[in-house]
Amino acid sequence: MRPILLRNVRIFDGTGSPPYLGSVLIEGEHITAVGDIPVAAAAGGEVINGGGATLMPGLVEAHAHLSWPSSTERFIPEFILPPDEMLLAVIRNARILLEAGFTSAYSAGALGERVEVLVRDEINTGALPGPRLRAATIERSPEGDEAAVSHGRGPEAMRDFVRHCKEIGVDQVKLIISGEDALKPGSSQELMCTEEEVQAACDEARKQGLWVSAHTQASESIKMALRAGVRVLYHCTYADEEALDMLQAARDQIFVAPAIGVIVATLEATPPPHIDMSGMKAAAVPVIELASKLIPDLRRRGVRILPGGDYGFPFNPNGANARDLQHFVDLFGYTPTDALVAATKLGGELMGLELGQIKPGYLADLLLVDGDPTKNVSMLLDRSKLLMIMKGGKMHKAPAKTAQLQPA
Ligand SMILES: [Zn+2]
Repeated sequence: MRPILLRNVRIFDGTGSPPYLGSVLIEGEHITAVGDIPVAAAAGGEVINGGGATLMPGLVEAHAHLSWPSSTERFIPEFILPPDEMLLAVIRNARILLEAGFTSAYSAGALGERVEVLVRDEINTGALPGPRLRAATIERSPEGDEAAVSHGRGPEAMRDFVRHCKEIGVDQVKLIISGEDALKPGSSQELMCTEEEVQAACDEARKQGLWVSAHTQASESIKMALRAGVRVLYHCTYADEEALDMLQAARDQIFVAPAIGVIVATLEATPPPHIDMSGMKAAAVPVIELASKLIPDLRRRGVRILPGGDYGFPFNPNGANARDLQHFVDLFGYTPTDALVAATKLGGELMGLELGQIKPGYLADLLLVDGDPTKNVSMLLDRSKLLMIMKGGKMHKAPAKTAQLQPA
């Protein structure tokens, strides 16, 4: 692949350092130099004058649901689509996330067994546009739950499930350890798994080389997850003091994603009269209040907190994912820069890949932004401000030709 030199860009490198004017050289999939780079370094390649726009790492969505059908492009009232339509939705939503500036996505569960695995593999060959995807399968729900699939109970059934996940090729396993008030009032305090089941799932996942993430609302579900070695904890709304201490103690091994986007969107939603969201709205009120205290506290304790907010509902569509960054500013006391660090540098750590920072050796997943997102993160929601979207050194969206110069 020919080298690409991006010149005259304000570099936000993902670490939180203030943006500075410079150049970035990309060779193959990687960033190979950053700073003051002679044009000759791109000999035989391409030089792009960024015109002083901001160059930043691509965004990482920490709680993606590509098979949840609705998107900013298409309103889909049904939730679980027939298999053929679901596959189409995953393909479409993968492209939409990439076009929204998300070059990576960590799945929080799929509605089809292999849809994410199939689409991930096609993305990786370059046949389909989409983010790097840490794929999951159908979320592990206990027997008798109203979810799409019920699984057997007991530690052995858990091990079978994890081995099955390995066979179908997922990157990680999503467990539902507590219930969810938005689906069933009061159930956020209910435990959906036993200690033995969670331990068995995590132990088998370690043997199979898979990560485990989990839906954890009740305090005891958080503790159960931490004792077993769950890597990504979603929500954590009802963490008590002991759970907070345990989260802090595990901070170098874990990530927490509150998934606040769906909560804000639930409160904002104005559904048509035949759709009753009153239960969901009532459930969302205490979550906002608790999360507004919990997340700043966890952050002070050094826990890695990630944006990502259950996008895919008609009232919270895929493609609006960058809204979460503004929620971090409005609700959790983040500066725009802090929110960007969470979505880039910390997101790279979540993905377990060298991405999310602009530095030599890192994957060239980059956005060129018309303006300064460190002043206003909401601007990332405006597609016209994303002048360039690059993943692994390949342009998904190239800057307008007028901005490009020939190598001297
Ligand atoms: Zn979710």
